[in-house]
Amino acid sequence: MSSGSGSLLWFRKGLRIHDNPALEVASRGASHLYPVFVIDPHFMEPDPNSSAPGSSRAGLNRIKFLLECLVDLDLNLKNLGSRLLILKGDPAEVVIRCLKELHVKKLCFEYDTEPYYQALDVKVKNFALAAGIEVFSPVSHTLFNPTDIIEKNGGKPPLSYQSFVKLAGEPPSSLSTVYSSLPPVGNLGSCDISEVPTIRDLGYGDAEQDEFSPFKGGESEALKRLDECMKDKWVANFEKPKGNPSAFLKPATTVLSPYLKFGCLSPRYFYQSIQDVYKSMPKHTLPPVSLIGQLLWREFFYTAAFGTPNFDRMKGNRICKQIPWKDDDKLLEAWREARTGFPWIDAIMVQLRKWGWMHHLARHSVACFLTRGDLFVHWEKGRDVFERLLIDSDWAINNGNWMWLSCSSFFYQYNRIYSPTTFGKKYDPNGDYIRHFLPVLKDMPREYIYEPWTAPKSIQTKANCIIGKDYPMPVVSHDSASKECRRKMGEAYALNKELNGLVSEDDLKNLR
Ligand code: FAD
Repeated sequence: MSSGSGSLLWFRKGLRIHDNPALEVASRGASHLYPVFVIDPHFMEPDPNSSAPGSSRAGLNRIKFLLECLVDLDLNLKNLGSRLLILKGDPAEVVIRCLKELHVKKLCFEYDTEPYYQALDVKVKNFALAAGIEVFSPVSHTLFNPTDIIEKNGGKPPLSYQSFVKLAGEPPSSLSTVYSSLPPVGNLGSCDISEVPTIRDLGYGDAEQDEFSPFKGGESEALKRLDECMKDKWVANFEKPKGNPSAFLKPATTVLSPYLKFGCLSPRYFYQSIQDVYKSMPKHTLPPVSLIGQLLWREFFYTAAFGTPNFDRMKGNRICKQIPWKDDDKLLEAWREARTGFPWIDAIMVQLRKWGWMHHLARHSVACFLTRGDLFVHWEKGRDVFERLLIDSDWAINNGNWMWLSCSSFFYQYNRIYSPTTFGKKYDPNGDYIRHFLPVLKDMPREYIYEPWTAPKSIQTKANCIIGKDYPMPVVSHDSASKECRRKMGEAYALNKELNGLVSEDDLKNLR
C-alpha cells in the first residue's frame, strides 16, 4: 500500500506517451504512478469455434498488434523510470480492486465514446467517486469532443459531412509535454501483476497462422510511419478516391488507421503534422478528399455513432433504412472464406485475413458485393467479419461505413454498384494483386485473371487451375444478381418512404 498522492493511469486505447492528457494529469504532482493495462480474456484468449485464429471478438493479427503496442509502451515507460503493470480479468472488477488496494488519490483514463467503454466507465467512475478518488477522463482519442458538436447542432449529431465540417472548426493543439522521467511505481500490495504476455502465453500455438500482418504495433512504429508519410510531399496532393486499391507493396494511403485505433498515434498530433506540411507547400488538396479530410471523416463517424442510439444495428436505428436483407449463410460463408469465385473479391478477403488491413476502395468493393451489389446479405454480418479481422477495427467507423456501403444510411445511390470484374482491372490490369493473394491463379493469363471461368479448358489446364475444382465457379452471375439487388433496393426505399410518411415513430418501432 502506498501513502502520499498516488495516481492510477488506466490505459485502454491511448497507448502512447506523446499528447496524452491522462498521463500528464496522472503524473503531475504524484508521489507514485501506477500505469495499468487490463487484459480481458474475452478479447484475447483463443476461441476454438472461430473460423480464423483469434478470440471470439478479435482475430489473432489484432491481438498480436495490441501486444506489440503494449511491449512498446512498457519500454517507453521503462525509459522514463516507470513500467506498464499488466493485470488480467474483467476490466471494471480489476480496476476497482486496484483502487481499493493501492489507495490512490487520482484515477485517470482517456474518455471513450464506444458503448462498451461507456458502460464500463460508469461502474469504475461511480466506485472511485464514492471512495473519494478524483477522476480525470479527458477527450484525446478524437480531435473534437462529440458531445460539443452534438450540442452545437441542437442536440442531434450532424448527419452530413458538410454540416459536420461547418460545426467542427479547428481542433485543439496537441500537448507538447516532453518527459525526462515519471513518478515511480509504488508498492503493489497483493495486486497480481505480470509482464506483457506473448501470443503463446495467451494460449495460441506456433502454427496458428502462417502469415501475419506486415504492420507492427506500437507508438514508436506509429511515429516512424507518420514521419515517413510527412517526408513525402504526397501528403499535400493526397486525394482519396484516386488512390490505387490494389497497391500492396507500397499502399496508396498512410496505413495509420491501426495506430489511431489503439491510440499509439494522437489524432491531434497527426492533424498538426499534416498542417505543418501544408505550410511548406504552395498548394494542397482540401476536405473531403485530402488527408485532413480523412481525419474529419473519422470525426464525423465518431460523432454520428455517439449521438445515434442503436448505431450498430438496423432495427431501432432511426438513421438506418429498413431493408429485407437475405439470411443466406452459404453466401456469407463463401464471401468470408474468399470462395465467391470472383478473384478481385476473394483476393481482398484473403488480404483481410492475412494482413487485417485493406485499402478503402477494396473495402468498398467487398462490402458492396456482400450487400446491395450482388449477394444481398445483411450489412451487420459483413460488419461482424470486419470487426473481428481488421487490425484497425473501430466500432464507430466500421458500423458507419457498412451503413454507407449498403446504402442503409449516409449514401443512397444504390444504382451505383462496384463491378467485381472490371473495377479492380482499371488499377491493376495484369492482376498482380490477385496473383499475390490468390496464388492458385498465379499462372492464369492476364485476359482471364478477373474472370477465370471464361478461360478455355486448355488454358485452365496450362495455368494449373481448373475452375470448379482448384478455384470456385462464381457464386452468382453479377449481371442478374446486381439487377435483382437494384430492384429490391428500389422496393425497400419506396417502403421506407411510405413508412416514414405514414407511420409514427412508435408504430415504426413495433414494425421493426
Ligand atoms: P488514410 O487514407 O491514410 O486516412 C487517414 C485516416 O483517416 C485513417 O487512418 C482513418 O483513421 C481515417 N479515415 C480514412 N478514411 C475514413 C473513412 N472512410 N471513415 C472514417 N475514417 C476514415 N477504418 C477504420 O479505421 N476502422 C474500421 O473498422 C473501418 N472499417 C471500414 C469498413 C468499411 C466497409 C469501409 C468501406 C471502410 C472502413 N474503414 C475503417 C475506413 C477506411 O477504409 C480506413 O480508415 C482506411 O482505409 C485506413 O487506411 P489508412 O490509415 O491508410 O487511411
